[in-house]
Amino acid sequence: MLDIYNEAEIYAGGPAAARFCLRLVSESERAELCTQCGACEELCPQKIAIVDWLEKIQQYLAVGE
Ligand code: SF4
Repeated sequence: MLDIYNEAEIYAGGPAAARFCLRLVSESERAELCTQCGACEELCPQKIAIVDWLEKIQQYLAVGE
């Protein structure tokens, strides 16, 4: 999900491009399934705020829909 967001922003494709690329992400790996348990954040060596980012990406994907 973060890759899709990054690629859309880096290459200026925006939310429409991100929605197109969403087909490359299996349904079991999509942001809407996040339960905000925080387990990934505890393991992340870069201390990325994954829960917050997944929420932002969900909102980003909905822009202009
Ligand atoms: S917080 Fe992380 S580990 Fe927990 S459900 Fe969401 S993405 Fe998965």
